[in-house]
Amino acid sequence: MKKDITDFKVRDQKVIVRCDLNVPIKDGNILDDTRIKACTETIEHLIGSNAKVIILSHLGRVKEEKDKENNSLRPVANRLSELINRPVKFVPYTRGIEVETAINSMKPKDVVMLENTRFEDLDGNKESGNDSELAQYWASLGDIFINDAFGTIHRSHASNVGIANILPSGIGFLVKNEVDKISSALNNPSRPLVVMLGGAKVSDKIGVIENAVKIADYVLIGGGMPYTFYKALGYNVGLSIVDDSSLDFCRKIYSEYKNKIVLPEDIVVATSLSEAANTRITTYANIGNNEIGIDLGMQTLSRYKTILMNANTIIWNGPVGMFEIAKFSKGTRKVVEILSNSKAKIVVGGGDTISALNKFGFNNSRAHISTGGGASLEMLEGKELPGLKVISEK
Ligand code: AMP
Repeated sequence: MKKDITDFKVRDQKVIVRCDLNVPIKDGNILDDTRIKACTETIEHLIGSNAKVIILSHLGRVKEEKDKENNSLRPVANRLSELINRPVKFVPYTRGIEVETAINSMKPKDVVMLENTRFEDLDGNKESGNDSELAQYWASLGDIFINDAFGTIHRSHASNVGIANILPSGIGFLVKNEVDKISSALNNPSRPLVVMLGGAKVSDKIGVIENAVKIADYVLIGGGMPYTFYKALGYNVGLSIVDDSSLDFCRKIYSEYKNKIVLPEDIVVATSLSEAANTRITTYANIGNNEIGIDLGMQTLSRYKTILMNANTIIWNGPVGMFEIAKFSKGTRKVVEILSNSKAKIVVGGGDTISALNKFGFNNSRAHISTGGGASLEMLEGKELPGLKVISEK
């Protein structure tokens, strides 16, 4: 088991916490503060233990000087201060005398937040390239490092892997919860284990499909992915989304794991990607040349429902139809309803999938909704996460 925040004596210590505070901001207003709320448990624990808390996070993409304007963490520091009900001193720099002065004058329970770590990318990609000088500098500001940023744990950046290589390090409560929940669903599932995969492209999920067929009892395929399988099997898919680079993969994996991979039998096809489109339900063998496969049909939904209601563990990543358009949202809405009523252990990941949960009123407090789309996908692929690997075992 990895060292975690509870394994350190943090009293009077300067603890650097890497959070994922990458929230959507428009005109200085935070549109969704879920990620800020998610890291308060770790921060409040440190405050309660009389530590000095130094927060690092990235925000958005910083490729040019002008990107700095819209990607300052200042509004995030203000919101965090409201949530934890105490001052959060924001330092609008990532290094330098202002940073050092603020940190040197900290008292136990003080909280300081530095500016967006990705501002360092403007100087030779130092943050994202895990520059050793930058990691050394940040590490020199603290005594202990806690990684609580699950959203970037699959990346090797200076602010996570770099610092953890230098300071005594552990994971925070959020990362621990994510890793425990996802690992237990993958490695020690109560069976049947059903992995349901949707979304647009097969190529993004090849690694997940390869791992899923090994560990799951059923792998349900939805969204835009079935059409690459159908084309690989010799069917006409009309104008449906197809990932030609994955045809051989689909042919091979389907022939090997026909007993586990479940493809939709009937689908909703449309003549265009709009509310005004003409639609009909047809089988996979009868898609017209000008039609796009866009959602699951009723027969398929009923089969998926039977499999899902029988499952004791369900992992879901990727909407099963183009749910953003109401006319094509029935399948995803139905899946959300089925999972709301399920007694299984559920893990859901991926930004679009979570939007679908919110949109269709997901109501299952026992489910684990992952805060990291990319990181949870890499766990589903069975990959080792660099930000976790670098943390010592207890
Ligand atoms: P991903 O990021 O790969 O999980 O893809 C999510 C996107 O896949 C969503 O925006 C859906 O609208 C889209 N999607 C779902 N079903 C289809 C489909 N049949 N054809 C094209 N895109 C789809």
